[in-house]
Amino acid sequence: MPYFDHNATTPLAPVAREAWLRAQDEAWQNPSSPYRKAAQVKIRLDTVREKFAILLGDEVERYVFTSGATEAANLVFAWWAKTLPPDALIALNPTEHPCVREPALHFFGARVRWLELDPAGVVNVEALKVCHLLSDKPDRVAAVVVMAANNETGVLQPWAEIAAACREAGVAYLCDASQWLGKLPAGGIGGGGFVIGSAHKFGGPKGVGLLKLAPQSEGLRGQLGGGQENAHRGGTEDFPGIAAMGAALVEAEQKKVFLETERLRWRDEFERDIAAAVPGVRVIGLGADRLWNTVSLLLPFGDNTRWVTRLDKRGFQVSTGSACATGKTGPSPVLAALGFSAEETKRVVRVSSGWDTTAEEWQALVVAFGEVAAELRGGSAQVVTP
Ligand code: PLP
Repeated sequence: MPYFDHNATTPLAPVAREAWLRAQDEAWQNPSSPYRKAAQVKIRLDTVREKFAILLGDEVERYVFTSGATEAANLVFAWWAKTLPPDALIALNPTEHPCVREPALHFFGARVRWLELDPAGVVNVEALKVCHLLSDKPDRVAAVVVMAANNETGVLQPWAEIAAACREAGVAYLCDASQWLGKLPAGGIGGGGFVIGSAHKFGGPKGVGLLKLAPQSEGLRGQLGGGQENAHRGGTEDFPGIAAMGAALVEAEQKKVFLETERLRWRDEFERDIAAAVPGVRVIGLGADRLWNTVSLLLPFGDNTRWVTRLDKRGFQVSTGSACATGKTGPSPVLAALGFSAEETKRVVRVSSGWDTTAEEWQALVVAFGEVAAELRGGSAQVVTP
């Protein structure tokens, strides 16, 4: 079945599976235990840490392995809540994933300021500088939160520019790189402030992720409870999962990310052809730089669950938006932030391919969309010539 829901989760990459099995066989001991075998596991763990520092940038000591991006985001906000002044404001991109948005609101509530977006959903960096970083107190924010790539629309944010502006202004920065890593080159993304990522978005296992600490967070050691991960986090390290995550990212960096141009062409051809197959369809975030694998479609009619079910019957797995929004009654906060009404968000379907998705599968998906459109309209399918 063609799988077009890679932004929700990816299948385990064979290299990750191999690394996981090897680690389970050879290095399953607790890396914190006091004997030689455990010390060997700790050394292997630190070798994976070095790989991340090499691929993303910054000091190896600043890499902390977690149970995923959600835990990593919670650690950052808990740390900020503890260390920033009690009246400190934080500036948040309104299209952040709930794993960032929820702890931000939990810890900072009314002290959250929302960043300005252009119509496609890209953060306005000039407005960020003028309104939040350069303004006189009390409007000046203490921290900025902007993801690298959006999970629902694929829109890319100018994270390098934002990181530089924050550095210059002496303001903390958190970048959720969960949807960027493994899809686009990671080089330099670790050079900003705090960075979080998630293994299962790039061929690693679920339940493993990373937190790259910002230079100014040295004092975090021993502050968040637990002595693992150089006293940055509590809980036994899942070395097999971490080894698998490292193997998946190394492979993506060495063999996949440079295939972007061809994959962008397939995505663009899909967008061109679906406009003919389903007249009136709209691509959300059009005009902005977006991930090569993600297309968020505002369909002209029909509830998105009906589209998803009918596409599923034809063998295509797509999503009604973010997996976290699916199954919840409220509209997606991402689409709401982009100005879509609750009625419109119910007509949004997200398609997200993987590195193994073929051009033929993209084209077959266009045909399937055309058939479903005809079925929902009660007519016959538009003829599509991909
Ligand atoms: N950030 C983004 C942009 C995501 O798409 C996801 C996936 O659901 C997460 C964070 C959460 O990652 P995890 O499942 O590792 O907590």
